[in-house]
Amino acid sequence: MRIAILGDVHGNLEALSAVVGAARNDGVDEWVQVGDLVGYGPEPSECIDVVRDLGCVVCMGNHDAAVLGMLDTAYFNSYARAAIEWTRLRLRTRDFDYLRSLQLVVQKKEYTVVHGTLHMPDLFGYVVSQVEAHHSLRLQSTFLCFVGHSHVPAIYLQRSERQIDWVNQSEVELSVAGCQKVLVNVGSVGQPRDEDSRAAYAICDTTAQTVAIKRVQYDIASVQRKIRAAGLPEMLAHRLSLGV
Ligand code: ZN
Repeated sequence: MRIAILGDVHGNLEALSAVVGAARNDGVDEWVQVGDLVGYGPEPSECIDVVRDLGCVVCMGNHDAAVLGMLDTAYFNSYARAAIEWTRLRLRTRDFDYLRSLQLVVQKKEYTVVHGTLHMPDLFGYVVSQVEAHHSLRLQSTFLCFVGHSHVPAIYLQRSERQIDWVNQSEVELSVAGCQKVLVNVGSVGQPRDEDSRAAYAICDTTAQTVAIKRVQYDIASVQRKIRAAGLPEMLAHRLSLGV
C-alpha cells in the first residue's frame, strides 16, 4: 500500500493542488493529512474541499482548533492570530462542522496520525529532535506514526529501545526495513520552514518498506497575490518565497 501524507496545508490551494498532482503520478492508495488545514493561507474552504474529496484520514491541528475557539490564540504570534480571525469570518458552516469532526489522534491498523506529539496531543508540542521523538515513540503502538506542526520534515527510525536514528534532509527516500517503529514529520505543504520553498509531503510504501520526503514546485507568486488581496499580513506572503 502506498500512503501519501500531507501536512500543514494552511489554506494554500496552489501548493495543495501541486502536491496532490505529484502524489497521484506516483500512485496513491490512501491519503492522510496531519492537521492545520487552515490558518495563514487565503483559501481555507477550498483546501478543506480538496482534502474531504480525497477521503483523507485527517487529525486536528492547533490552527484548526483555534479557528473553532477550542484553543486560546494568546500564545500565537500576531500574524497567526490575525489569520485565525480572518479565517473565522470566511469559513462556511460545513467547514466548521468538518473541522469540529476531527480527532486529535487517529489510529489505523498500520499507522497513527497526530499533529504534534503522542505524549501531549492536546498541548501541540513539537517533535524537533530525538528527545521529543523518544517520548512520542514510547506511546506509539503502530509501526508508523505521521506528525507535522514544525513545518520541517524529519524521519526518526527506532532501531532498538536505545537507538533512534534521525534523518532531517529536505528530500530523501530510505528503507525502514528492520526498524522497530518509525516516526515521520512530513513537513508542510502550505508553508515550509526548512529554507526550501517547495511544498513538502511524504510517501510511505508499506510493501516496499520505504518512506520518502518529497518536494514539489508550485506557483508561489499566485498565492502571494491572493494573500495580499485578502488583506492578510504581508509577512505571510513574503515568507513563502524564503521557505521560512
Ligand atoms: Zn502548522
